[in-house]
Amino acid sequence: RAGRAIGRTGLGAVMGAKRLKAIVARGSQHPSLARAEALREAVRAIIGNIVEALQGYRANGTAGGVQNYERLGNLPLKNWRQGSWPEGAARITGSRMTETILVGRYACGGCPVGCGREVAIESGPHAGVRGGGPEYETAAALGSLCLIDDLEALAHMNEVCNRLGLDTISAGGVLAMAMEARERSIWPEGPAWGDGEAAVRLLEQIGRREGEMPTLLGEGVRRIAEAWGGLAREFAIHIKGLELPMHDPRVYVSQAIGYATSTRGACHLQAFCHFYERLGRAPALGIPEPLPRETAEGKGKMVAVLQNLMALFDSLKLCKFLLLGSFQPEHLVEWANAVTGWDHDLAGWLRTGERICNLRRAINARLGASRADDILPMRLLVHRRGEGGAPDNLPPFGQMLADYYAARRWSEFGVPTPELLRELDLEEYADWVPA
Ligand code: SF4
Repeated sequence: RAGRAIGRTGLGAVMGAKRLKAIVARGSQHPSLARAEALREAVRAIIGNIVEALQGYRANGTAGGVQNYERLGNLPLKNWRQGSWPEGAARITGSRMTETILVGRYACGGCPVGCGREVAIESGPHAGVRGGGPEYETAAALGSLCLIDDLEALAHMNEVCNRLGLDTISAGGVLAMAMEARERSIWPEGPAWGDGEAAVRLLEQIGRREGEMPTLLGEGVRRIAEAWGGLAREFAIHIKGLELPMHDPRVYVSQAIGYATSTRGACHLQAFCHFYERLGRAPALGIPEPLPRETAEGKGKMVAVLQNLMALFDSLKLCKFLLLGSFQPEHLVEWANAVTGWDHDLAGWLRTGERICNLRRAINARLGASRADDILPMRLLVHRRGEGGAPDNLPPFGQMLADYYAARRWSEFGVPTPELLRELDLEEYADWVPA
């Protein structure tokens, strides 16, 4: 059945370790809304904009952006080493999927957009594959990152990951590392760049933990590098043990800080800041226009305030694609107040977001994380690709990180102070951070 699988950060592995097959939630009652008519009116006022702005997502899914991102240099290629791949991008992009294997679309509950894909393959080596189709992150991680331009193999890999509970982003990061290990003669039996058939077989073995090497690969790139040692650390692309999402911080430089400071490891959604270096505007947050993509100025502060906002999106279960349809923080305030019956202003809601971010950071500090973990893989700090949409750019990391800590009012070691936690009514967690 088509649908989304919650694979990120290894939830499938956690469930497997606990021998937990599934969690089923059922209910027959609707939650009550404090001001139902006000909510309906507020949604009606903007829903047309949202549907209009997301027509492209409905037509071709999020993978419809593959070619544009390739032109910008944002599409990661060959384990983040290559800068240009136009023919390959054309073969795995969303419109190609629409023309070939798409059989349906699906939407999250109540959404009129329906950016989800349903695909089916009737013949050839991948015959019988049916289910959710690759989204942008999947098309990039399992496709361009590994130079795999066979869309049917890609759909098959996606199906294997969804069925076995693997995160497609991490799976792509691991496959790309395995391919580079073959190139460097560290694992000569590994899959070759672009070999989709071998990738499908290896993913099945990883998911089932069949054999010594697939079992190691299932541990993710950080542990693979620890096991292989030496050069392998240079091409294990992760932050805090989580493989990177598919937006290149050498193009959208704010994501260097968004990824590095994300509490769960490299995550493009905790700040969603690349959108505000492309199209996004939020005057109420001090972002009247998109910021220039490749410069440091204003980025540290922007990432901090966007993380506060996105913590609210995540807690309220709002889709971040609303932002493409001119959805503003003020709309969130209006909707959330109508649902809850509260009357918080924007500053009040953002304070809640700030409290969430600081509590998460305090948990990380308690577990031993600090500034030393707020890093970017060396390849993304120093490797110029020399071709494509951003051939020479590197993220100005140190300046942005210092600006970010200052905007957060954290110590030079990147942790909230006990005083700040008290100010945010998080006093009970003050002994989790260094005094
Ligand atoms: S809620 Fe968002 S992710 Fe879900 S179908 Fe609608 S636009 Fe797509």
